[in-house]
Amino acid sequence: MTTSTIPNIVIIGGGAGGLELATQLGHKLGKKQRANILLIDKNRSHIWKPLLHEVATGSLDSNLDGVVYSAHAAKHGYQFQLGTFCDLNPAEKTLSLAPEYDEHQQQILPSRQVNYDYLVIAVGSVSNDFNTPGVKEHCFFLDSHKQADRFHHALLNAFTQVHQNTQATDLDIAIVGAGATGVELSAELYHVADLLKIYGLNNMTSAKLHIHLIEADPTILPALPPRISQSAKRELEKLGVNVMENTRIAKANSEGFITSEDKLIKADLMLWAAGVKAPDFIAKFDFFELNRANQIIVKPTLQSINHQDIFVIGDCCACELPDGNWVPPRAQSAHQMASCVERNLINVPGNKPLQEYQYTDYGSLVNLSRFSTVGSLMGNLTNRSMFVEGKIARLMYISLYRMHQRAIHGTLKTIGLWCAEKIMRVVRPRMKLH
Ligand SMILES: Cc1cc2nc3c(=O)[nH]c(=O)nc-3n(C[C@H](O)[C@H](O)[C@H](O)COP(=O)(O)OP(=O)(O)OC[C@H]3O[C@@H](n4cnc5c(N)ncnc54)[C@H](O)[C@@H]3O)c2cc1C
Repeated sequence: MTTSTIPNIVIIGGGAGGLELATQLGHKLGKKQRANILLIDKNRSHIWKPLLHEVATGSLDSNLDGVVYSAHAAKHGYQFQLGTFCDLNPAEKTLSLAPEYDEHQQQILPSRQVNYDYLVIAVGSVSNDFNTPGVKEHCFFLDSHKQADRFHHALLNAFTQVHQNTQATDLDIAIVGAGATGVELSAELYHVADLLKIYGLNNMTSAKLHIHLIEADPTILPALPPRISQSAKRELEKLGVNVMENTRIAKANSEGFITSEDKLIKADLMLWAAGVKAPDFIAKFDFFELNRANQIIVKPTLQSINHQDIFVIGDCCACELPDGNWVPPRAQSAHQMASCVERNLINVPGNKPLQEYQYTDYGSLVNLSRFSTVGSLMGNLTNRSMFVEGKIARLMYISLYRMHQRAIHGTLKTIGLWCAEKIMRVVRPRMKLH
């Protein structure tokens, strides 16, 4: 153990899994001074990642709806440090944080080292461009709220150009990857295009918006049961989305995407949302065993192979299921893994046996903005999953976010936030236009 007599537990990444874990450990260990809990994140505030497509379209304001880590930490019994994790020395139990710079490239924090007794890596995932030429240079991604804000500004500029008819009469947006992100974003874009007339941009109508949703697999939402993908496809086509299945992208250039059949899909804005992998810096850690998506392979207790004092949770964790597949990168997996590691970190200093993680699939829901919600419930809880759509599905979808809010704020504040959101919906514009 390091300097103090109580263990130092360091969590890197305050996302769906890491922030829930820091909050719960803060309450159970930090406040009782049974451990020092430190959360490190490269951002100052947290936005639940499944909401990023709403930030990208302006339905949600990341400045108003984010949770500020330092304020949250002060209330919930843990500490927060702003920092970008870049290196690790498991033998010495130290990790390194890169220097931080402001927008004028002035250094605000030097590189630092942090000691730990127990480390939890929860740094999430990034989009996988599979080294497709031109994608990095020409596409937007939705991996962080900064990237979602960047897409939002480009979208507003494009809306303005069509409205003022300066350069464009129509707007083409091409999205590669028809998983939950691509599908939900497509519907949300039609929703905000419908709202524009209320806010004076009445020349830019949804009829002038052309979304091309491109998927290499034979169906959209390939990871979900066929009934969900068929239903989502029907809804998207009703809105006017050009759903292109069985279409592989070979490269991107300034005009749009080029398919493997050498066809150009012209686009004013391009977004890449095809597949995820753990961040690239993880690949240089040769003391971990990694899978093909850079994820760190763990034991059933979520400890990394070879390092008992390093736990891994969420999208960057490769945890094998009994059928040989990996636990899917989803918010519900991150939530369940956080609960398992919470119990294990409470048990480990007392040498109690550690619990093994068991993935429970409660189903998957896809929200097509205000138009529809489709999904399945129960997942692997029963032999047959239950197909749901409409109001019930929407309610279940929203309850996922409420569960996350409850884990980080408690029940009372979650109810308060829900009431505040209802009021804000009346007094605040329905989309962010700046
Ligand atoms: C648009 C969209 C819609 C989605 N919809 C759904 C859905 O409906 N249902 C569902 O179950 N899942 C959904 N997902 C997936 C879900 O968001 C992720 O599976 C989940 O957020 C993973 O949680 P996590 O804690 O592993 O990572 P994240 O929530 O991504 O958190 C990672 C954290 O690590 C921080 N970080 C990263 N690198 C570093 C570093 N080097 N140093 C310090 N900090 C770092 C980040 O800032 C971030 O705060 C969606 C994802 C997207 C993008």
